Amino acid sequence: MANVKVAVRVRPPSQKEVRTAVPLILDVKEKSIAIRNLKQQRLKFAAPNSSVAEFAFDRCYSSIDPNAPDYASQETLFNELGNQVLDAAFIGFNASLLAYGQTGSGKTYTMVGTPDSLGLIPRICEGIFSRIKSECKSSTSYKVEISFLEIYNEQVRDLLAGRVQKRTSALRVREHPKKGPYVQGLSRHVVPTCSHIAELIEQGIANRTTAATYVHDASSRSHAIFTIHFTQANLQENLPCEVISKLNLVDLAGSERADPNFCRTRIMEGANINRSLVTLGNVISALAENSMLSTSCVGSQHVNLWRDNISDTISQAPPATSGYSLSSISGRRSSHPCYVPYRDSVLTRLLKDSLGGNAKTIVLATISPSSSSFSETMSTLRYAARAKSIVNRPRVNEDPNV
Ligand code: ADP
Repeated sequence: MANVKVAVRVRPPSQKEVRTAVPLILDVKEKSIAIRNLKQQRLKFAAPNSSVAEFAFDRCYSSIDPNAPDYASQETLFNELGNQVLDAAFIGFNASLLAYGQTGSGKTYTMVGTPDSLGLIPRICEGIFSRIKSECKSSTSYKVEISFLEIYNEQVRDLLAGRVQKRTSALRVREHPKKGPYVQGLSRHVVPTCSHIAELIEQGIANRTTAATYVHDASSRSHAIFTIHFTQANLQENLPCEVISKLNLVDLAGSERADPNFCRTRIMEGANINRSLVTLGNVISALAENSMLSTSCVGSQHVNLWRDNISDTISQAPPATSGYSLSSISGRRSSHPCYVPYRDSVLTRLLKDSLGGNAKTIVLATISPSSSSFSETMSTLRYAARAKSIVNRPRVNEDPNV
């Protein structure tokens, strides 16, 4: 059993935020983040009479000031989070890394990066090949395959299908009894070297659905899942044996709510994106609830509160462990495990293994340091705090005698 690890990264203020001297409202420590409400209103989830709420996480990264001693670079994130994914892969576990946050908070920068400042996906790919080289056992053969998809308006599209398959044709999500959820007909690309992966990443990103939103000029409105299928094959007692791990690297769509003044298509996108994210929230909430049941903790009211708000946006979802929230809500103890609504959205059907299943999972929440993003940042922090109590059951995916 392994708890989902939750990390938070704070991006630097944008040029506009610097120009307009927007106040910064976060105090980032290694394992906690304090957020200040400049309106001096008492925060609902802060300590009594306080306008500061504090959230605890497994790790918090400040990328606010490149000159600060605690500045978290792309390399820092790879060394800590990327290496955890690689360790899991080489042992034979499935692993997932999910970037969650409002548009413009740094999800794509962290996951993909720029040519000058590579993000986690290219670094993890590079890391696989360099570990194969250094750890290479003559008795083991390795295979790396890539797939890349997006979920847009609740439909799955292959980002690497090339010209043969029209990008408009949606693919179906299915479930294999042993191997877990998969997308029928999704292309898989065997990659012999790291440079082949770089080409595929570029191709996939170019195919992602983007559109102008009210927050950001060309923001991604789809969830993107980059999957590395990593196979290690050898002989055990003269019989062939394969250890297979699936690494899901996920760049979720922006978690902000749709602007009601926006055109119909954009609002429909927003509704679907939120449907996936609300379902993700409900799955996280139900799993957190179930894990609390198994450790005999109180707090069952959370799920109901969150579910009652299902028609609302994420930002109104009730929070979790700021240190005050659990005790402040007198929960009715339920002795039955909650139903986990994986099937309510394409995203959660596909991520079933990553959430409470057979995978080691890291949720990386990305946030802005500025007061102008106060409510979205609060929402992201609550969401992330909730994910901390999810317990997964990773196992080594060994397939003897293949
Ligand atoms: P999102 O994917 O969440 O919409 P982006 O990754 O596109 O956000 O980031 C928005 C902008 O902020 C981009 O210009 C990006 O380069 C910049 N940015 C985000 N995070 C960082 C960071 N940690 N360091 C430097 N620049 C960043």
